[in-house]
Amino acid sequence: MHSFGIDTRDPGEYIAALGALRFEKLKRQIAYVWGNEDYYRQRFLDAGVTSPDDIRSLDDFRRLPAFLDKTRHRQSQEDSLERYGHPFGLHLTAPLEKVIHVAATSGTTGQPTFYAFTKKDQDITNLVLGRLFAAAGIRPGDTTFHAFGLSLWLAGITWAQALEAYGARPITVGAEGGIPKILRYIEYTRPKALFATPSLVTQLIERAPAEIGKPVESLGIETIVCTGEPGVSIKAFRERVSQAFGAQVHDATGGAWHNGTISCGGADYHGMHHLGEDYVFRYDLIDPETKQPIEIRDGAVGEAIHTALDYEAAPAFRNATGDILRLHIGECPHCGHFGTRMEIIGRADDMLNVKGAKVYPAAVQEIVAAFQPEVSGQIRIRLDGPPPRVEPPLKVVVEAGESLAPYRWDEVARRIEQRSREILAIRPAITIVPFGSLPRTGGKTKLIEVAQGAGQS
Ligand SMILES: [Zn+2]
Repeated sequence: MHSFGIDTRDPGEYIAALGALRFEKLKRQIAYVWGNEDYYRQRFLDAGVTSPDDIRSLDDFRRLPAFLDKTRHRQSQEDSLERYGHPFGLHLTAPLEKVIHVAATSGTTGQPTFYAFTKKDQDITNLVLGRLFAAAGIRPGDTTFHAFGLSLWLAGITWAQALEAYGARPITVGAEGGIPKILRYIEYTRPKALFATPSLVTQLIERAPAEIGKPVESLGIETIVCTGEPGVSIKAFRERVSQAFGAQVHDATGGAWHNGTISCGGADYHGMHHLGEDYVFRYDLIDPETKQPIEIRDGAVGEAIHTALDYEAAPAFRNATGDILRLHIGECPHCGHFGTRMEIIGRADDMLNVKGAKVYPAAVQEIVAAFQPEVSGQIRIRLDGPPPRVEPPLKVVVEAGESLAPYRWDEVARRIEQRSREILAIRPAITIVPFGSLPRTGGKTKLIEVAQGAGQS
């Protein structure tokens, strides 16, 4: 893995060296986006910055508010469609004719968020994703199998092109091909690596015996890279996949604005290594309530502001990702690499405040999931009033595992409460309910239920 030319094993010195490297690039990028009168210059002026020279240090930069987020990104697209007849945003800082590649994500509304790439943006994307492929154990010359959704998704054509640029021969059936075709084509092409979402990986395990007459273990896949949903950070999923395939399993993020992160495999989970430190500032952490910057140190938790340092087309520049990260700085307990890693522990808009303690539903779910198979992994957090403020104790309903005898429920509940107190610094009130009693609603189950008549805002 990369060390970005920094030769120290002291966390504070490492972050300071990265900061210096980044600020050199930032000075140029600030001047570049300042030229974008339609959007970014306006954000600077709104923040009281009247010249790029006003930003004299990384700390000055970190004190600026967020300039972009999903909502503003989409509004910027609407506005540019109206004003210029293209949907790539008023924050498009490069001439439209230089945009050669477009990807998109779509939220629950179905409205797309576009990501535009110039040739340079694409080259750096390929380079950062190439580091990601190398970290997953893929080498140029290997055959890889691409089963992420292809249709405009960042992990789709964008990643497939990066695999080609890296020389790793992607078989691009995509998730759209469907499980039977994916299984047969894997059988034909014998790839070393598989790219798929956790839910697709699970379906391959379950359906291989019926579709191809043998278990996935016989396919010879050595490494699996997941993105798009949580999964690899959950022990039960990692164990199931590594046993079923006999493969290493990694989770990753990347494709958007030169970001690239990947976990390094192994039985325990230690977060995702940042691979694009020299091209992005992805953990400019702020307090999700006060929006003030948080000191960047080992163990820091906050909402991530993402700035791309070299991006030309429509860059993330103080973009509020909404992700709550836990940052690690130091030696990775699994692979030994010294650097930064991140765990995504929740979303800023899910945060609860339990008498001053910040609690993320996803973090509660992760603690409970570690008790599988004594529990099913399904939980609900029941609130008496609208979030984020919660009067303690936080009430959590946990579904028993299929074979957990009712006389053991109390004991399991107390152990989950104890573990929560160690990790979250609050002691929730856990109630165990029978297996199968919490409704399953697919991938994005709402973990929080607010009591009716509580005036949900
Ligand atoms: Zn590692």
